[in-house]
Amino acid sequence: MSHILKLENVRAYYVIKNRSSAKEVKAVDNVSLTIDESEIVGIVGESGCGKSTLTNVILMNIKPPLRFISGKVILWKDGEPIELNKLSRDSLKKEIWGREISIVPQFAMNALVPTYKVKRIITDIYKSHYETSSDEEHIINMATKRFNDLGLPEKVLNMYPFELSGGMKQRVIIAIATLMNPKLLVADEPTSALDVITQKMVLKTLLDIYHKGFIKSIIFVSHDIASVRQIATRLVVMYAGKIVEDGPVEEIIRNPMHPYTKYLIRSVLTPERTTKRGEIVTVPGFPPDLSNPPSGCRFHPRCNYKLSKCVSDEPPMLRVNDKHFVACWLYS
Ligand code: SF4
Repeated sequence: MSHILKLENVRAYYVIKNRSSAKEVKAVDNVSLTIDESEIVGIVGESGCGKSTLTNVILMNIKPPLRFISGKVILWKDGEPIELNKLSRDSLKKEIWGREISIVPQFAMNALVPTYKVKRIITDIYKSHYETSSDEEHIINMATKRFNDLGLPEKVLNMYPFELSGGMKQRVIIAIATLMNPKLLVADEPTSALDVITQKMVLKTLLDIYHKGFIKSIIFVSHDIASVRQIATRLVVMYAGKIVEDGPVEEIIRNPMHPYTKYLIRSVLTPERTTKRGEIVTVPGFPPDLSNPPSGCRFHPRCNYKLSKCVSDEPPMLRVNDKHFVACWLYS
């Protein structure tokens, strides 16, 4: 399978300065990840674990106070690897964003200009981000065709965002983000704050775009494993700025290896019968302060299985099988 994107030992920190001191929040810390063509990868973890920062790193959308510290972000374009971390923001905007990788950012639906009709929003975004010289008729024709392909009503193009439901706004945003047929779509919490039925419609739109070949792969970021399970084939679990488990989604849900993943699955999946028996489980303690993360395994202050070396030594990513990896000393 061909690679689309590879992160190699990436570190990206928030550098927060005040008058007398500065601190670094290690939001993405030594993360390596490869995304292949045809994959739908779900990235899960608690709020503040670095998921959203990772989406910005994938696009190399690095703005202060976020700083790219080290590592490589490699994208394959026409079969050739390109180090995105070496490109200027201008080149990223002209050559990569929208054409090769696109993002549906968190809370994107709240950012639609309320006084512009959807067709004006689409033409403005298209002209400013992609083809400045395109005429409006061409853009509207493209958008109309894409709306038809995705089962979105054409009349939406002539409506204002405030006339649309949350789910319709999110589907419109997904259609806009993928108008240029990028290889990779990064969707950051696209279903949060939506009711269950609307969530399913948004997931269906993502899958339609994928199955119709408009995009090759999806990174679906969510705190909700139940949503991820409906769309993803692979699950990546993040904790405190690091990847702690990576593997096929059903295999991890049936057989989670990392103690944090075990807690996460038992606390966020719809637990059905166990709920009735009053056995909802939550992760004990609180996520660590990433400006001063715990030594060794970052999960050790919350882990019931910790060994003495967990406090001092960081666990490497260990191979469970060809597709399943876990960073935990229990399996060394
Ligand atoms: Fe727990 Fe140690 Fe595994 Fe970390 S490495 S999850 S502390 S057992």
